[in-house]
Amino acid sequence: MSELPDVVFNLPSMEGRELDYVQDAARGGHLASGGEFTRRAAELLRDETGAAEVLMTTSCTTALELSAMLLDLQDGDTVIVPSFTFTSTGLAFARQGAGLVFCDIEPVTLGLDPAHLETLLDEHVRAVVIVHYAGIACDVDGIRAVLAKWPEVRLVEDNAHGLFGTWRDQPLGSLGRYATLSFHETKNFVCGEGGALVLNDPDDVERARVLYDKGTNRHAFMLGQVDKYTWKDTGSSFGLSDVLAAYLLAQLEMRDVIQAKRRAVVEHYTSALTPYADELGFELMRVPPERTSAHHMFYVLLPDRDRRNDVLELMRKSGVQATFHYQPLDASDAGRTFAARRTECPVSRDIADRLLRLPFWNNLTRSDLDRVTTSFVEATTETLESR
Ligand SMILES: *Cc1c(COP(=O)(O)O)cnc(C)c1O
Repeated sequence: MSELPDVVFNLPSMEGRELDYVQDAARGGHLASGGEFTRRAAELLRDETGAAEVLMTTSCTTALELSAMLLDLQDGDTVIVPSFTFTSTGLAFARQGAGLVFCDIEPVTLGLDPAHLETLLDEHVRAVVIVHYAGIACDVDGIRAVLAKWPEVRLVEDNAHGLFGTWRDQPLGSLGRYATLSFHETKNFVCGEGGALVLNDPDDVERARVLYDKGTNRHAFMLGQVDKYTWKDTGSSFGLSDVLAAYLLAQLEMRDVIQAKRRAVVEHYTSALTPYADELGFELMRVPPERTSAHHMFYVLLPDRDRRNDVLELMRKSGVQATFHYQPLDASDAGRTFAARRTECPVSRDIADRLLRLPFWNNLTRSDLDRVTTSFVEATTETLESR
């Protein structure tokens, strides 16, 4: 019964040599991780972020799991995560045994709120996880100022949205002790399912490699540093297949083209909708100073949940697939189970109710974009008049 919308929310696209590289990988006979394409993708990411090392993983979720293993969590340890984020941000630490402490977001960047963070820190906290929502840096300064009093607490960046965005000219993903990336088909750079762990501290590299390689010192063996490889530590099978790394490398090589296309989408939406914002009662996303956006998405905030839902429904009927986003993790069933204690996250709740994301992908045409903005303006007008 369900009809395909005229303008879908997300549509992954090939932008360069994806098929050539996948064919090369398949013909080359090295399909597992650790092949030529895995190496080249990791090298490109390492150069771009200035990291000590980048490990290509099967997803951002598994990269977060690997980062959780690096924390060596003990009974009673906690990790602070935003309430307004994807489940994996919390899940990865919960399944390594951490109690979660949910922190609220601030309403400017929709990233972690330093003022709330300050009230949540105590001697049990081992790490704080930040998200650069929509590819816009969170309040890094404020968070660093709070963490200055807690030097043992590690900062982890869940940078699933932020690759190639910057904060004070520094790449997102270079700001934490480690950072994770996602190449899921809904992100800016895709290979179906994939991710990476960005290691910014050279001290973490050797152990991370062992955890990454099923708990073995296989990497040291490959380098000829040991004469046989054995089981050394905990770990799992985290490596991205070279076939997928081949697809991903082609995408990453086109990063300037892809990011320019996405910036153009943001600019179109912004200039088309800004004139209506006050009159129709919505707010556009903004990029505060000292940041360049990674252009992961475009969102608006409606005045309340009912109006947001009505606008979504009217847009759906007009053939445009807009959507809401994260539901606060602290209020979810698993969030309650894994929480070390209850915290209050009113901004997360409010934003979750009011946020609406417009269709966002590389090759939206001028006429697609006009369809979307017309549909949104009509729906917000109609819902304004019916109130
Ligand atoms: C998409 C996303 C993830 C999960 O990424 P996968 O690669 O699908 O595991 C984690 N965190 C955030 C903030 C995300 O947007």
